[in-house]
Amino acid sequence: MKILKTPKEAQEYRNSLKGNIGFVPTMGALHEGHLSLIKKAREENDYVIVSIFVNPTQFLPGEDLDKYPRKLQADFEICKRAGVDAVFTPNAKNMYSDDEILIKAPKIKGYILEGFFRPGHFDGVLQVVNKLFNIIKPTKAYFGKKDAQQLYLINQMVKNFFFDIEIIPVDTVREKDGLALSSRNVYLSTEERKRALSISKALKRAAKLSSKTDNIEEIKKEMEKILDVDKLQYIAFVDRDFNYINKIIPGNTIILIAAYIGSTRLIDNIWI
Ligand code: AMP
Repeated sequence: MKILKTPKEAQEYRNSLKGNIGFVPTMGALHEGHLSLIKKAREENDYVIVSIFVNPTQFLPGEDLDKYPRKLQADFEICKRAGVDAVFTPNAKNMYSDDEILIKAPKIKGYILEGFFRPGHFDGVLQVVNKLFNIIKPTKAYFGKKDAQQLYLINQMVKNFFFDIEIIPVDTVREKDGLALSSRNVYLSTEERKRALSISKALKRAAKLSSKTDNIEEIKKEMEKILDVDKLQYIAFVDRDFNYINKIIPGNTIILIAAYIGSTRLIDNIWI
């Protein structure tokens, strides 16, 4: 497995390949969620490239950039075992310059929900993914439905900037008890981990209810009864294009939650 440290090394490696390239961008601290993206990429392509980069521009001041879990050696092992051909691990210095051209997330859909509570977050995500796409030039790129708004915005960027890349959405991988896997779960104490479960439970209940009623207020009330979080930021109902909806549309609804458990911010969602 090749370790590529600079954009130049990655470009040279990329340009030496012939065939389909599956690309999985990550921030590392890899878990089974990431692995399911990698496995799908492995099945569908001649080559698989994973990037591991804790991208500073998508963190807001005061967020967890410094304490974000970093496990590079363990990540390499996981990638090797999964049959990854190359891991690209750039650093901020070789990815960014001082005064550069910026990408702006769309005014509405980049600034609601996640973008409202983390203003500018998606500008940073799109900036780095744009760079990564230009370096790796993948055939297909794999993104988790766990970050549903990110997935939507990446699809928009591909359309708006005419990237010739197929975006492949991948289902959320959960622990046996339902908790969505996240690199940030390591921040949770045992007690917090128990209460974090209320998020996936509320979503599961919402999914069940939505087969009986399309009444969002009713569903939301039931979800609030189940949730045992310290600060609820949003419960939202949108269609697959992130337009707010006022009743459940079967086959075209995403229900999303963002909440703090202690000082850990978690997001999760369910597709109806
Ligand atoms: P991250 O390292 O958190 O930036 O995530 C890298 C990619 O893995 C993103 O496309 C995420 O949506 C995806 N991902 C994160 N957690 C999960 C999960 N539990 N199931 C599936 N995909 C996930």
